[in-house]
Amino acid sequence: MVGKLTISIDLELAWGFWDILTPEVLHLSEAQERPICDKLIELFERYHIPATWAVVAAVLDRASAAGRPGNEASWYAPEIIERIRAAKTPHEIGSHGGRHVYYDRMTAAEAEEDLAFIKQVHRDNGLALDSFVFPRNAVGYLDLVTRAGLRTFRGADTGWVRLAPKLGPRAGKIITFADKVLPLPPAPARAQKNGGLVDVPGSMLLPGRDGVRRFILPAVSRAKLAMGLAWAQRSGATFHFWFHPCNFYYRADEQFATLEWFLARAAAEASRGRIEICTMGSYAPRATDTRGAKAAA
Ligand SMILES: [Zn+2]
Repeated sequence: MVGKLTISIDLELAWGFWDILTPEVLHLSEAQERPICDKLIELFERYHIPATWAVVAAVLDRASAAGRPGNEASWYAPEIIERIRAAKTPHEIGSHGGRHVYYDRMTAAEAEEDLAFIKQVHRDNGLALDSFVFPRNAVGYLDLVTRAGLRTFRGADTGWVRLAPKLGPRAGKIITFADKVLPLPPAPARAQKNGGLVDVPGSMLLPGRDGVRRFILPAVSRAKLAMGLAWAQRSGATFHFWFHPCNFYYRADEQFATLEWFLARAAAEASRGRIEICTMGSYAPRATDTRGAKAAA
């Protein structure tokens, strides 16, 4: 069996925290986001692994940064997208919303406005627009997202963590945390049609390491990554690994070591023909695919 590996990255700077801003977030997004992205691009280059970078459109729109707290550099960073596009490895640029507003609690008119803004920004910058990652994974208005021309989205993580939101905030939090602390295998994802889109559900988030999450052992994360990849390979399904640059804000060296360990393993599996490395966009059937979205390392 050949499994698939898909990696998606939510690139958002301070937009990911606009409603829960702290001085620390403003500082870290300004000072850390660029070096972290540089390092991510370098690692993907080293192992010839393409990823889907889901970008908050406002990161490319200087006017959106005006009037926001802190410095412009916490909100506006077109140079990061330039570096991703300049990489030899053909990454996909997707969307993570217009200004990181939540699709499960906006009106249809607001969703249309957000999608129109995204389309405008992608058109102005000559960027494809095939894949969507809902801000906070809050899925909504799939019909409008389809009509805007998108083809794939990242649905809620598979496996038992999917139960967490149904159990109330307290139990849900405990389950989500337990899942990251315990060496439980992340379930493989099966891409499936949902309306006019293809849902490529997440399998595993690389947790950040601030606060109590610093106790999540890198060895546990590695074990989960290895099990997730092996399970996808055995079942012919997808291991969909995702994270944000901010998951590298704390204990960055350990986090990068974990990621590099995983990328080396994935590249070795791909070279043996046991894993195909696919961007989210490659799950959308298209008549003529010339963008090289699918690449085996
Ligand atoms: Zn986000």
